[in-house]
Amino acid sequence: MVEIKNLTKKYGTKLAVDNISFTVKEGEILGFLGPNGAGKSTTMNILTGYLSASSGEVSIGGFDILDNPVEAKKKIGYLPEHPPLYMDMTVREYLDFVYDLKKVEEDREEHLSKICDTVKITDVKDRLISNLSKGYKQRVGIAQAMVGNPEVLILDEPTVGLDPKQIVEIRSVIKKLGREHTVILSSHILQEVNAICERVIIINGGKLVASDTPENLGKSISNENKFQLRVAGEEREILDILDGVSGIKYVNSLGRKESGSIDFVVEAEPDVDVRTPIFNALASANLPILSLQTLDLSLEEIFLEVTQSQAGTYIADVDEEEIEIVNTEPDATNNAPEEVVEEGASEDESNL
Ligand code: ADP
Ligand code: MG
Repeated sequence: MVEIKNLTKKYGTKLAVDNISFTVKEGEILGFLGPNGAGKSTTMNILTGYLSASSGEVSIGGFDILDNPVEAKKKIGYLPEHPPLYMDMTVREYLDFVYDLKKVEEDREEHLSKICDTVKITDVKDRLISNLSKGYKQRVGIAQAMVGNPEVLILDEPTVGLDPKQIVEIRSVIKKLGREHTVILSSHILQEVNAICERVIIINGGKLVASDTPENLGKSISNENKFQLRVAGEEREILDILDGVSGIKYVNSLGRKESGSIDFVVEAEPDVDVRTPIFNALASANLPILSLQTLDLSLEEIFLEVTQSQAGTYIADVDEEEIEIVNTEPDATNNAPEEVVEEGASEDESNL
């Protein structure tokens, strides 16, 4: 239904989207996940024809967004990061306006009241948009995207700035929409895509770093071959000892969690139980193991792993003979400071 091929976008010399390709099947709810500044809004603006790409192709339902913009755009409903709501209109006036703008052919009354029912804004349809709460404004934003019954809904961070109750309500609206539409939803919040989406694409620094179901993302990273290990002693000394244990694929230092000790993530080769060799090696070096447990990473941690590890530990093939030591300290390439400002700005009601 949606096909993106080798999409690249540069703002001046800044590479915001770096050669991204993915497809979204009909009826799928796809989560587009990434930290602030990852390139989500840029990609969505290109998908919807609001922004031109530097290179690459986008097609919606078989129509190229550049060659057939009118046909392609008819298939898309878009909730941008800052929805273009007219504050001095009532909800109904605004939806009427959008209906005319999109030159919708379906029966006006029937179409608009069905949309209002779906996103639950029937009760406020005669109220001025400026007087609505942020949650209701967001519903109106989703409603305008639904006008004309487009096959694909593209929602850019639909729950940003909402309170927990509103978030739950908007999520259930989106899930419901997923029954009749193809939905692409961006978020920088992992639980959100986990709760709503069937498939997740993770982007970071403009690059696609993972694409899978939320369950498989979990499985690919948390398995019995991975341990979290807490050892009393100096990091360098412990790493040197672990380096000599055969069957270890890599060691990832997590730093100091408890005074006098260092935590590590250790991954073993498939079907190799390295626990006894690790115990023996550390014991003979007089480095006591304080804890050893199999690792069950939360989706949160998986997200951090795939977005922070420049080495791409979980994406790239790791040479089986070699122990790789990966630094998990956040690096300068993540979350450029301007995004913090951007996020603050999006909380501002005047942006809606
Ligand atoms: P996200 O939606 O994932 O937070 P964006 O697509 O908004 O990310 O931004 C991706 C990167 O491109 C960021 O580093 C951002 O600062 C930069 N960027 C976004 N819009 C512009 C613009 N109009 N001009 C220059 N840089 C931009
Ligand atoms: Mg954004």
